[in-house]
Amino acid sequence: MRKSSASRGRGIQRVLTPQIYISSPCSKAVNPRRQRRQNTASAGDESADWDIPRIAYLYTDSTATTLRLDEVMAFLRDVLGLRCDLRKDFFSHHGGRDHEALARAIAASRVRNILRPFEPMEPLYGEIHFEHRLLEDPSKRVPGILYDAFRYTALMRDLLPPEERSFRVLHIAFEHRILGTFDEDGRYHARAVVCAYPSAVSTSSIVEGPAKPDAYYRVKAQLAMALGAVPFDAAKQPFTGQFIDYDDPRLTEVAKGYALQAATYHITKEAFCTDPACRLFNAHRQSELLHAQLESGKLCARHETMATAIRAASRARKD
Ligand SMILES: [Zn+2]
Repeated sequence: MRKSSASRGRGIQRVLTPQIYISSPCSKAVNPRRQRRQNTASAGDESADWDIPRIAYLYTDSTATTLRLDEVMAFLRDVLGLRCDLRKDFFSHHGGRDHEALARAIAASRVRNILRPFEPMEPLYGEIHFEHRLLEDPSKRVPGILYDAFRYTALMRDLLPPEERSFRVLHIAFEHRILGTFDEDGRYHARAVVCAYPSAVSTSSIVEGPAKPDAYYRVKAQLAMALGAVPFDAAKQPFTGQFIDYDDPRLTEVAKGYALQAATYHITKEAFCTDPACRLFNAHRQSELLHAQLESGKLCARHETMATAIRAASRARKD
């Protein structure tokens, strides 16, 4: 039930709030210098407010067989001039040895009811054990469980060493867990990119978040009624190519766009673009995602200019 509702994607096009947010503990990490700049910068000099990181760390998702992060890093280097480094998956790198405590914290970030705001609850033994096994073997893919993006990135943030917990360091963690936010329409929605600190790009949310073609849901409902279970593969089959699926060969290209959204947000604090042909477009449907990231594959003129300025600023950094 949770999976079908969380993953269905229906209604996502009605979401008014952007799928991007900075959580409050991150705001506290804003340094005073930046705060002063915000207060004094003139409206015409938006680059004065930018936070150009000295390095961007990308964390791999070991379950995503078609995700080539070396290409994503090259893309960020080309477009924004960022110095990038690749790390293993976030919890393997930062999680430490106490997998029991970490498993408990991850399990505690599970969403119990997608129609209610997050309610903290003590996780069950089985849920902790399940997360523990995933930490032991990060190449195992999590089935349709939704995690609260705010809680999840908060626990990631707590694991960062103090010297890396700063706007000078950009972290983009590719994750296989489905991350969601509770929105104004009264339900959770899966988010492909969560621009908190650290940022997360969920490869499963790329599949499950943006709505698939309407006919897919009709076919799935008909098959479910006839068979008494949801035959996902059979329902997907007539629509092959019309959405990003697990192990999709197009995942790397799409991931470039979401990494760019996370990086641009980190630097400029500007959310999304309204141009459907821009890679910063906030796609609510798979068709929109494919259009922005693959058919167009470009930035709009305004963001192209912005990227050029960021690139120049990144390359001018001396540290
Ligand atoms: Zn744009």
